[in-house]
Amino acid sequence: MTLHQSDDYQDIRDAVRALCAEFPDEYHRKIDADRAYPEDFVEALTKAGWMAALIPEAYGGSGLGLTEASIIMEEINRAGGNSGACHGQMYNMNTLVRHGSEAQRQKYLPRIASGELRLQSMGVTEPTTGTDTTKIKTTAVRKGDRYVINGQKVWISRVQHSDLMILLARTTPLDQVRKKSEGMSIFIVDIKQAMASGMEVKPIANMVNHETNELFFDNLEIPAENLIGEEGQGFKYILTGLNAERTLIAAECIGDGYWFTDRATTYANERVVFGRPIGQNQGVQFPIAEAFVEIEAASLMRYEACRLYDAQQPSGAQANMAKYLAAKASWEAANACIQTHGGFGFANEYDVERKFRETRLYQVAPISTNLILSYVAEHILGLPRSF
Ligand SMILES: Cc1cc2nc3c(=O)[nH]c(=O)nc-3n(C[C@H](O)[C@H](O)[C@H](O)COP(=O)(O)OP(=O)(O)OC[C@H]3O[C@@H](n4cnc5c(N)ncnc54)[C@H](O)[C@@H]3O)c2cc1C
Repeated sequence: MTLHQSDDYQDIRDAVRALCAEFPDEYHRKIDADRAYPEDFVEALTKAGWMAALIPEAYGGSGLGLTEASIIMEEINRAGGNSGACHGQMYNMNTLVRHGSEAQRQKYLPRIASGELRLQSMGVTEPTTGTDTTKIKTTAVRKGDRYVINGQKVWISRVQHSDLMILLARTTPLDQVRKKSEGMSIFIVDIKQAMASGMEVKPIANMVNHETNELFFDNLEIPAENLIGEEGQGFKYILTGLNAERTLIAAECIGDGYWFTDRATTYANERVVFGRPIGQNQGVQFPIAEAFVEIEAASLMRYEACRLYDAQQPSGAQANMAKYLAAKASWEAANACIQTHGGFGFANEYDVERKFRETRLYQVAPISTNLILSYVAEHILGLPRSF
């Protein structure tokens, strides 16, 4: 059930749903149990052109906007899948499309659109600085026609299933810049080449089946032509990507939220205890209904964030608020769903516990709820900066 039964994007919804139907619950359950990568699923999405949604038609993509991309992500999660396996390509793409040079766009975009290359990784977070991104310690020092990278990253996802990564590093030391957001740059890193010449990858075992890694850079040399945009302006560029990321992850949470409320409603209608369906009890109904209300509201904020982003207008506030609302709503829906299922919510074969783990991530990554509230307090309400 959704109030957006039929919207302007029904064709996209129908097509993505049809593809997802070929990958039923059992498929995603097995991938999760085996801690495997959904290679066939990502391949099918790529072949169908969905992974190239944001690439302009001139470079072989579909030339769609963030709104359409958000529908794709929503439908994957709504069908029981986990977009986390492949969403990186969507939001990383815009960084390259909007800030890459014409030569970089020509070099990479058609090959990404065809599926020959994957751009699934973005390296920002570092172990000693966490959310305090401007303090990153990874450096990129220009030496002739190369940059030499040294430092460390943590929680960098899909590295082992990507050919390319967008990397944020400091090119001017923090004490030599006017503003702390200046002096950082972003680069395209060829992952296989880097692994052979100075980048070490150590996987991090974690709660979800989400391939994520520690990265160590020891004099990794990359061609200077891999710098995206202007040196020193990388933080500004990465924010464009982060707004897209937050909006798309909001859409995934919305998809999860509908999955949870659909499953909870079905089970509450079918399960009979004390001689009546459990869903006849308001104590069971209300948490599901409340979660549904919150998902619908989050979805509206998601559309607003997409609208602004697609119009190339500032969307930071809306992207953050959509992510906050959607992550909260999907988590409430997950709780309602597991509670409605009673003991069966814990059984792997119902998939509720898997989706429960998957959606929990989004209160922490890619930005924690506290940091969103801090953004709203400072940048929207004008309260004093707390850090
Ligand atoms: C599975 C997974 C995949 C990820 N993938 C990627 C990726 O591909 N690329 C990438 O760059 N990063 C990735 N991340 C990192 C993710 O973006 C960070 O974990 C997240 O931004 C939080 O940073 P942190 O873990 O360093 O927490 P910290 O910054 O150490 O914060 C810890 C806690 O303290 C709170 N906190 C900190 N400071 C304040 C404050 N001033 N006020 C209030 N509360 C505060 C935070 O809200 C948080 O709850 C991933 C993380 C996970 C778990």
